Amino acid sequence: DKLCYVPTDKAGIRQGREAHFGGNLSLTYDDPVMLVRGWRHHLFDEWGRPYLDAYNNVPHVGHAHPRIQAVAADQLRRINSNTRYLHPAQTAFADKILSKMPGHLQVCYFVNSGSEANELALRLARAHTGAKGMVTPDHGYHGNTTGAVDISAYKFNKPGGVGRADWVELVEIADDYRGSFRRNDPERAQKFADLVDPAIASLRQKGQGVAGFIAETFPSVGGQIIPPKGYLSAVYAKFRAAGGICIADEVQTGLGRLGEYYFGFEHQEVLPDVVVLGKPIGNGHPMGVVVTTKAIAESFDNGIEFFSTFGGSTLSCRIGREVLQIVDDEGLQENARVIGGQLMAGLKALEAKHDCVGDVRGMGLFLGVELIRTDGSEATEICAYVKNRMRDHRILIGSEGPRDNILKIRPPLTIEAEDAGMIIAVLDQVLGECA
Ligand code: PMP
Repeated sequence: DKLCYVPTDKAGIRQGREAHFGGNLSLTYDDPVMLVRGWRHHLFDEWGRPYLDAYNNVPHVGHAHPRIQAVAADQLRRINSNTRYLHPAQTAFADKILSKMPGHLQVCYFVNSGSEANELALRLARAHTGAKGMVTPDHGYHGNTTGAVDISAYKFNKPGGVGRADWVELVEIADDYRGSFRRNDPERAQKFADLVDPAIASLRQKGQGVAGFIAETFPSVGGQIIPPKGYLSAVYAKFRAAGGICIADEVQTGLGRLGEYYFGFEHQEVLPDVVVLGKPIGNGHPMGVVVTTKAIAESFDNGIEFFSTFGGSTLSCRIGREVLQIVDDEGLQENARVIGGQLMAGLKALEAKHDCVGDVRGMGLFLGVELIRTDGSEATEICAYVKNRMRDHRILIGSEGPRDNILKIRPPLTIEAEDAGMIIAVLDQVLGECA
């Protein structure tokens, strides 16, 4: 089969994309990479050249994991069907997810992507509260569907975006490096949280009511932000007092990536009413999960069937459970803590050495390096340069933030000490080129 044969005609493939795909399907890097094989946190191009994957969180337990290959092949040989028939894989997957969650979260819904999961979370909020209004931090991203775009300022506020819907209010992201309240202010968590008060008042005034609050626990596209401790607990208290529910989008932060915490909400010491999971939960197989309380599930169980043809398929449930099991069996959360710590120490040393590094932040294998100009403003062009030069050295990293000046390091959890050392050494060299 030609498609399995290693293609070397990169230019032809680019032409094919231009001819048959929408122009807003973007490619990363000035010289895009073509990747035809993966193994753990390594990727290989059409010439067999290796790349270190320091960016992709979807292959959570590593690219081409043999145990995922084995359960997928095994299940495809047996049956792949839906939730209208009984199968032990579905309840086994739910049991495994719930074993990682706080006890008040007892009900799982299985869907096919993070977008769909957030869409469903919105429906749960509306069903439970009878209201529509949502508050969300600026620069957030929750998905590509109509409702998810409406709560994603990263999309609706871009030039060409649809603008902010009536039922949505934005609050400033709790960025204590660049935002209104900085790290030298011990009251900053409460001050950021207080910004939701006028947002709640505005929803009420517009007659939307207060359905709830949704946020990426640690905002990623907003710039790899770790909100100050106490932020979410203060925000959640305000929404509960207003009759709304609190949704934690853990698509990027969940499942052990943070090292010290299995979920980001544990760091913020909050108990969300709804938790949204996606990307890594299927290690590349398309899946999303919404976890909630019995009370919210009962409000949603209003006579209309909930069904997703592929959500919770036998195959998805086998794969999802295996991913969570591998994280446990291979000690990957602990690996994220140890290697993340090593990376953080290396990045801090680079911050001390290179003037263009303004801030280094993150937790475990969820890291950001904010690049700045001499006047402290966002160094978008340096960030693009560094990302592309790292790619020349065959290390894949990303960039984020409203001005795209934050380097994003978010590898599969299998990454090792030697790889972390290589990232720091090469980044040191590339940052030296920017002086
Ligand atoms: N939420 C967050 C925080 C995400 O990062 C993403 C994807 N980048 C989504 C939701 C949407 O997930 P999907 O692309 O699987 O629909």
